[in-house]
Amino acid sequence: MRRREFCQTALSTAVAAALPGHYLLADQNTDIARSVPAITASGGETTLEASAVNDFRNSLRGKLLLNGDDGYDHARAVWNAMINKHPALIARCEGPADVVNSVNFARENNLRVAVRGGGHSISGKSVCQGGLMIDTSNMNSVRVNTKNSTARADGGCLEGHIDREAALFGLATTGGIVSHTGAAGLTLGGGYGRLCRKYAMTCDNLLGADIVTADGTFRQVNAHNEADLFWALKGGGGNFGVVTALEYQLHEQNPVVAAGDLVFGWKDARNVLGYYAEYGNEMPDELNMNLTLLTTPDGERRIAIEAVWAGNPGDEDKVLAELRGTGKTLVDTVEPVRYTHFQTRNDNSNRHGIRQYMKSSMVNDFSADLVDQLIDMYRPNPKANFFFMQAGGAVSRVGPTDTAYPHRSAHCNMMRWNKWFEPETGEQREQRIADVKADWAILEPYTHGFYVNLNDDNERKTHANYGPNYDRLVLAKNRYDPTNLFRLNANIKPTAGSG
Ligand SMILES: Cc1cc2nc3c(=O)[nH]c(=O)nc-3n(C[C@H](O)[C@H](O)[C@H](O)COP(=O)(O)OP(=O)(O)OC[C@H]3O[C@@H](n4cnc5c(N)ncnc54)[C@H](O)[C@@H]3O)c2cc1C
Repeated sequence: MRRREFCQTALSTAVAAALPGHYLLADQNTDIARSVPAITASGGETTLEASAVNDFRNSLRGKLLLNGDDGYDHARAVWNAMINKHPALIARCEGPADVVNSVNFARENNLRVAVRGGGHSISGKSVCQGGLMIDTSNMNSVRVNTKNSTARADGGCLEGHIDREAALFGLATTGGIVSHTGAAGLTLGGGYGRLCRKYAMTCDNLLGADIVTADGTFRQVNAHNEADLFWALKGGGGNFGVVTALEYQLHEQNPVVAAGDLVFGWKDARNVLGYYAEYGNEMPDELNMNLTLLTTPDGERRIAIEAVWAGNPGDEDKVLAELRGTGKTLVDTVEPVRYTHFQTRNDNSNRHGIRQYMKSSMVNDFSADLVDQLIDMYRPNPKANFFFMQAGGAVSRVGPTDTAYPHRSAHCNMMRWNKWFEPETGEQREQRIADVKADWAILEPYTHGFYVNLNDDNERKTHANYGPNYDRLVLAKNRYDPTNLFRLNANIKPTAGSG
């Protein structure tokens, strides 16, 4: 290097080192020298030139991580530790401009794309092997507008971020039952939670969204502006682009609810299940009941109902009297509790790094036959869960074509999973998966369609699942993602482009 060049380099390095980090868009010293092997949208192999990757890196405010970089393994890890994929690149976006540059880079280089929010995709759709992972998790501020009771949340917010900021003002909207679930993923697919019978699904409370579509355009959509895209976002999942902000309707909500568990012995299981089946749809909207069949560590089967009363304080005993009368409660912890605190109660038992295999679908008619099946098939197994997430109430008063989310007459979402924390042998894993599949073969005939946030399937089943909304979703897909750049989801295939 000539002396003058050396001095310039040394000077610029010294200046850069003296500047606070946020003045630098990217660290110019970390340019990579090699080309990067990658996977295309359709699964083929490609190579990204070093200069293109460097340009992309320099275009971002956030970090661009490659295999071997500090933080790469942390960023590629998603909630379900059974998923182990290595993206070629991870763009840790800090704002919409980073998202636009990432989408453009992916499209121009025909890369496979995964979009990550909270990382809760159980099937691991938010990370991809060899493609570009667009990670929005650093974009997570929430602003509550108390004048019109709305909240604007960045695209990488977790459910708990919204619960918490809204509660500061005595407000709430429907959020998931684990506070570290990503708000964007949950909302775009639908959004069930402890308040959904009172305030409808999370997607029903969506007033607008900022989204970067496949052509790299930043759009602000709502009921009046690009209304078809907005409609599609309410249940159509991640098919249409990367959401960088969501605006929600909030509701006045007493920060203290009456909530807890009612746990019964197995001898009462038929009564309790029968009660849930029969009255699940007729309960007051303010009452939410999620039911679990579980096994204690010492091998005893139990049936538990988590009850949340978000209505008038003091009325909970009246509304729970009939349930309490269905058997002998071994545990009864229903008491006044802060809603935001209760919303975190499952966080640790569902912490990142868990291994889970799950099947789930909607139950419209919780028949006596289904009750019999469940009683017959549930064998003691501490790893096995049968979980029923209640629907009905305000959820069912939204019409099936009013939003892209179609399953409005469901009684509940039935889930069967095995979950464990410890690394397993291949044989154990296969057995645990096979157990779930075997049970599901018996239960599936009782279901009607699935929840795309927990289950994604082939094109034929996805078509059937969206029912009357599918054709309209295809039109939106044709318009906003004709080459199917966003395909790692319950995929709506475009018919217009090469997707
Ligand atoms: C422990 C646990 C608890 C859950 N509880 C509930 C619950 O109470 N209620 C409920 O309805 N569901 C629940 N779910 C399901 C949950 O809604 C879905 O897994 C949802 O996709 C998670 O979103 P995420 O951002 O955390 O996931 P990610 O894995 O980050 O993303 C999943 C998918 O969402 C899309 N996506 C994520 N972020 C964006 C974005 N910014 N822009 C565009 N697309 C995006 C992408 O298609 C991505 O593949 C739960 C899941 C888990 C694992």
